[in-house]
Amino acid sequence: MSGIAGIKVVGRLAPSPTGSQHLGNARTYLLAWLSARSQGGRMILRIEDIDSPRVKPWAIQQAIDDLHWLGLDWDEGPDIGGPSGPYIQTARASIYRFELGRLIEMDRAYPCTCTRSDIDEAASAPHESIDGPVYHGKCSAWRHGDPLPPTGTFCWRFRATDGVTAVTDCLLGELRINVAQQLGDFPVTRKTLEAAYQLAVVVDDHAMKVNQVVRGDDLIPSAFRQADLIASLGYNTPSYSHVPLVVGSDGRRLAKRHGDTRLSQFRAQGVRAEQIIGWAAHSAGLVASPQAITAAELIADFAWSKVNRATVHVDSVNLFRSC
Ligand code: GLU
Repeated sequence: MSGIAGIKVVGRLAPSPTGSQHLGNARTYLLAWLSARSQGGRMILRIEDIDSPRVKPWAIQQAIDDLHWLGLDWDEGPDIGGPSGPYIQTARASIYRFELGRLIEMDRAYPCTCTRSDIDEAASAPHESIDGPVYHGKCSAWRHGDPLPPTGTFCWRFRATDGVTAVTDCLLGELRINVAQQLGDFPVTRKTLEAAYQLAVVVDDHAMKVNQVVRGDDLIPSAFRQADLIASLGYNTPSYSHVPLVVGSDGRRLAKRHGDTRLSQFRAQGVRAEQIIGWAAHSAGLVASPQAITAAELIADFAWSKVNRATVHVDSVNLFRSC
């Protein structure tokens, strides 16, 4: 079986090992996995460990263990290899450098010496975007071939498109934005010149032939930036489904203050993966009750048209009793 127009679906699970994976991640991973598997698609596991100061080395293996425990599998990944490896972002630096070089040659990236506080200070209310201050463009006069500032003093910043960028989301429909005006030029590297998240994700999805992206709706602003980068690099745009985040009873994104929702913690307490999957499937509108069920049992009846668009509230982390 295959997806639209006979193209084989390729999805991905892309954990950031900046800490433990929690309930909200489990729900998103389940939907990503079901979407690909229900269309006969392939699944890739990619570890997004380029956020260096925040990455915890132990969290890579823990994420892999959590995903296995949940009953989610993949066809390519750091533990099993595959044709598009390596599957750990820190091992892919040369690929990102090459694609960055193309952006620079096309004059779509310029060296930016501004610091975070320069940008925050310069930002006034009208320049606040849905995702932080819009870059004021101080360094954008640089043109390809101009001298570079000293190494270590600048990052590469993408010259965003001043025109409409549209993203079609399976849950939310067509979303349109002017990336230059509403989000602003954005970094594609850090000052160490290592790739930043936006660049790494689009380069990897392209290189790994990923054509289906399912992730949390906190990344919608990133989807516009990525669609802009994808267009300038000449890649195909994947299909997007941005799923609601799980929030606590106070309506805020699930975090430590709501109690311990780490999957590793549930596992240690003797909670069964099927209980977590049952809760996630029920909260997503896929099953009538939150009874224990395996991920594999949900494949046959999965459809995006059933998936609930509402934010998911977790009122108590004691939802799961070990049995
Ligand atoms: N690694 C990101 C996360 O864990 C996901 C990035 C993406 O799906 O583009 O939130």
